[in-house]
Amino acid sequence: MVRTGGCYCQAIRYELSDDNARDFSVCYCEGCKYASSSHTMNLRTESDKITITKGTPKVYLDTKTLSGKPMERKFCGDCGVALWSEPAALPGKAFLKVGTLDDKSGLNILVEVFCSNALRPYEPMPKGKHPQLTLGAGSAEFEH
Ligand SMILES: [Zn+2]
Ligand SMILES: [Zn+2]
Repeated sequence: MVRTGGCYCQAIRYELSDDNARDFSVCYCEGCKYASSSHTMNLRTESDKITITKGTPKVYLDTKTLSGKPMERKFCGDCGVALWSEPAALPGKAFLKVGTLDDKSGLNILVEVFCSNALRPYEPMPKGKHPQLTLGAGSAEFEH
């Protein structure tokens, strides 16, 4: 199954060819606050499963991550929308912003990360259905 998506102004379009990309994480890191005002929802996939079909994303090398590990943030230079990120600590992995998909259906929440950094009064989702990792605990903690 190929999912399509792009930025808000449609200058950037992409195709995602990853049948296994159904689980997303919610990230409350500082970078995501700047990208979205609060948090982001990120679909786990691999860089080579994303094919850019229109335009060229700009790349910001984020060296101010809470984890201390650098990350490439891909975004549209025209409308400024964040598209996906590629953490240096996870070679080949990409975290695609769910909101940029044309069809956002059929996806499941896997984990919330950097919960202790969530912007109040916004609270992470009720506990019990998926792991909620606080800052500094757990190997899956990388900014998205
Ligand atoms: Zn984040
Ligand atoms: Zn755009």
